Amino acid sequence: MISKDGASRAGVNPATGNPGSTVSLGSAIEVDLAIRAAFAARGAWRRISSLERGRILRRVSDAIRSNLEELTELERAETGKPLALARAEVLGAADYFEFYAALVHLPQGDVLDVQPDLHVYTSREPYGVVGVITPWNLPLNQAARACAPALAAGNTVVLKPAEATSATTARLASLATECGVPDGVFNVVLGKGSIVGAAIVEHPMVRKIAFTGSLAVGQEIGRVAAERVLPLTLELGGKSACIVFEDADLELAASEVVRAFTTNAGQNCSSGTRLLVQEGIHDALVERVVDRVRDLRLGDQIGPMITQDQFETVGRYFEVAAAEGATARHGGDMSRNVADAEGFFVPVTVYTGVTNRMRIAREEIFGPVLVAIPFATEEEAIEMANDSEFGLAGGVFTTDMSRALRVADAIEAGQVYVNSWSTQSVQMPFGGHKNSGYGREKGIEALHNYSHVKSVSVNLGAITT
Ligand code: NAD
Repeated sequence: MISKDGASRAGVNPATGNPGSTVSLGSAIEVDLAIRAAFAARGAWRRISSLERGRILRRVSDAIRSNLEELTELERAETGKPLALARAEVLGAADYFEFYAALVHLPQGDVLDVQPDLHVYTSREPYGVVGVITPWNLPLNQAARACAPALAAGNTVVLKPAEATSATTARLASLATECGVPDGVFNVVLGKGSIVGAAIVEHPMVRKIAFTGSLAVGQEIGRVAAERVLPLTLELGGKSACIVFEDADLELAASEVVRAFTTNAGQNCSSGTRLLVQEGIHDALVERVVDRVRDLRLGDQIGPMITQDQFETVGRYFEVAAAEGATARHGGDMSRNVADAEGFFVPVTVYTGVTNRMRIAREEIFGPVLVAIPFATEEEAIEMANDSEFGLAGGVFTTDMSRALRVADAIEAGQVYVNSWSTQSVQMPFGGHKNSGYGREKGIEALHNYSHVKSVSVNLGAITT
């Protein structure tokens, strides 16, 4: 959709610092048009047969796969991501549509045994128009994660991607139309959060919001939603702990810890950025982690910060770490490691000499920055892991299965990984505890998140025909 007031934003390729494409920015006018279209389309989309809805969503999945190269390049131009990562994220977007296309066939309710002369049943109903607001770290993937289940559940969608990364989301909308998604069912409005995002949240025809992004914006949306009694799915930040016990396979733990905090250059909400390591293996594990980090190449293995703001934020945390007295075992200084790179690259950084009270151990940095903190006992590790405002993910490394399950149970987080980090799949429900948010994306839970239950009771005694 072209902006009515002609506003636009000049893009930048974060891997090179060179100018990118210019994007039209919408306003409350475009939001209103899109939401009215979604509102008008909601009845027909809800009533379409589930077989047909599933077929259409399956075609969207196929279209994402057959346009893999184009979507990957569009994503890379705005995010600077390494090729393999960008491809994997695009394929992950296709998985969401494939999975939820199949789930449209799930039973939608139950028959309840209440009393003989009553027929009581439940059914699941879509909300109507769902507003989806996404961040810049996994643009197409996050869009598909929310939209596929929302559409499968019979809702229509108005989606706003982050300002810096809207190309693949806009392309998804045109692919959806080519695949037979009816007009008005899937709408994308580009623009600023404070204008377009806020207008979606405030619009009276929107009946549910799925927001992925920062805690601060999530809280702001929550305040408006409270006034409007608007259901929310909030997927916010994290400061997830990876607990490594002395009996763990150290090689495995080291390679998974590196994966946990460097994937997507640490710009993942579920990054494992707090390494809690049992005292006896602290030095040996940190050594192995640092050895692996030394071999990582910026550019083809570690991408840049996707925005300049984020690049500057990470630089400020290096100053915080120095002021707090942490020791940088690798990185921690913008003038090293990044010297040869153009664009918004930051050095992969490992800190020791950290306590769980320091800001670098408590705040989400959203860069490839790991803090290592020693612990003595299992109880201390659990207490430290849970001593965080966030609760998105957690990891446990041990060869003692009883302990693995005990600790997995005790960690206050929406997902826990044992002897690996971040087994991400569309089947596995994903979401937070505490300030990491509420509601669940992925899995059957997401489908249920985008519908509500109606109970119907029929008095059989009064039915004559
Ligand atoms: P952000 O909160 O600044 O922006 C997210 C989206 O909200 C953007 O599209 C933005 O334009 C929009 N927005 C901003 N102000 C708004 C307002 N007042 N009303 C409505 N919309 C508004 O987040 P970001 O910086 O783009 O992303 C990074 C954050 O996202 C991190 O905290 C990260 O942990 C979180 N995140 C969470 C998950 C998850 O699944 N839990 C996934 C990815 C990112």
